[in-house]
Amino acid sequence: MQTDKIKFYPTKPSTELSDKMEEECGVFALYDSKPIDNVAYLAYCGLFSLQHRGQESAGITIANHGHLDTFKGMGLVSEVFNTDELVHKIGNAAIGHVRYSTTGSSNLANAQPLFAQSVMGAIALAHNGNLINANRLRNELELDGAIFQTSSDSEVILNLLAKRARLGLQQAISDTCNTIRGAFALVMLIGNKLIAVRDPLGIRPLCLGKIRGSETHVLASESCALDIVGADLIRSIEPGEMLIIDETGLNSYRYAKNTHRASCSFEYIYFSRPDSILDGLDVYHVRESAGRCLFHQKPVEADVVIGVPDSGVVAAIGYSEESKIPYSMGLVRSKYMGRSFILPDQKLREQAVKLKLNPMRHVVAGKRVILVDDSLVRGTTAKKLIQLLREAGAKEVHFRLASPMVKSECFFGVDISSKEELIASKLSVDEICKVINADSLDFLSLDNQRKILGGDQYCDGCFTANYPLDDIERV
Ligand code: SF4
Repeated sequence: MQTDKIKFYPTKPSTELSDKMEEECGVFALYDSKPIDNVAYLAYCGLFSLQHRGQESAGITIANHGHLDTFKGMGLVSEVFNTDELVHKIGNAAIGHVRYSTTGSSNLANAQPLFAQSVMGAIALAHNGNLINANRLRNELELDGAIFQTSSDSEVILNLLAKRARLGLQQAISDTCNTIRGAFALVMLIGNKLIAVRDPLGIRPLCLGKIRGSETHVLASESCALDIVGADLIRSIEPGEMLIIDETGLNSYRYAKNTHRASCSFEYIYFSRPDSILDGLDVYHVRESAGRCLFHQKPVEADVVIGVPDSGVVAAIGYSEESKIPYSMGLVRSKYMGRSFILPDQKLREQAVKLKLNPMRHVVAGKRVILVDDSLVRGTTAKKLIQLLREAGAKEVHFRLASPMVKSECFFGVDISSKEELIASKLSVDEICKVINADSLDFLSLDNQRKILGGDQYCDGCFTANYPLDDIERV
């Protein structure tokens, strides 16, 4: 009998309104040996501050001394959870997840945390990132009798862990993490222990903090989620590091030797919030520096600098400070724009830009405008935006991008349009400039990006097509 195999697609065609790379997922966790006041509400707050990393589903698992209770649903954090109910939940630990489906479909079964029973006890798992060998591993597990309930690559991790449970906790995790390949920042509850793991290249971020005046440890994809629960940032989890936090305290182990790091450079450009610090680098500072570099790369006379809200604003401020050309709010973003529009047609996507962004006529009319955005994906938004600015009276529009040209897809948990849809994969800077009808165009150079980030220990595969791992399953 022919069976339908579920495949994990490293990238899926983006159907969102946004002409942006789509965020991956966000994870959050708390642990204390004693019950934590408002444990579920604190997890809710952490996820709320990571909402920008995934809007399709959200979930929280609460641990009460080994007993795990999971609540999850489709939609935004504020839609999924009833805060009146959350405040009554009791527990000493919790993990949480917000999801954007980069593999598997968008449905409740794929919402995380995922849950399984094993001889180690109950396991709840939340995963940010993409595995690049998930199809092969899933096939092997299925041939071995494993039954999958979701189409998410994260369930492969859960199965591998359960299969290795007899090895003991630390060895089971270590073996599992050395079997899976790709990007993974994991938080797990196993029995009464909280476990955090980061992949050997540190592709996806994960940081550790502690709530002030308590013994409560906190883990989060970004440090902005520590701030919201009153936790101080202690440090990032190292690539190849495993943390086990239980009543004995916090124990750190190396499950893999990392010879080099390859943290995602796009976290700094677009995904992470500007109030986050990742691996010791301030996201705001990186974006501001990109704006400063853009001025020096290709200076142009102009009257005003404006940024595309929200992710182009900080770079625009940097550009303005360096050039001494005044910064002004030239575009207003609708706060109430839904993210669930499915607009398969290019023309509809172009028109929809108007729903989201509106030019401030008095700021741009009769002016030579520098327009700054974080990145250029399909080019549809840029073309429409420049047209809108011209219709609002802008004399000239000079477009600047605070990242290099995006030429390739991502296999590590970021939903980039297929390569064919990426405008920079087909056209030169001059050709793109013509297509989007800008007066001039410039992208941050790769050299400048590396200088700003402080080295080459970052993944820049979507700019260079040189990926930090080469054995990628392409399905
Ligand atoms: S390919 Fe691009 S988006 Fe993907 S991990 Fe690397 S830098 Fe980040």
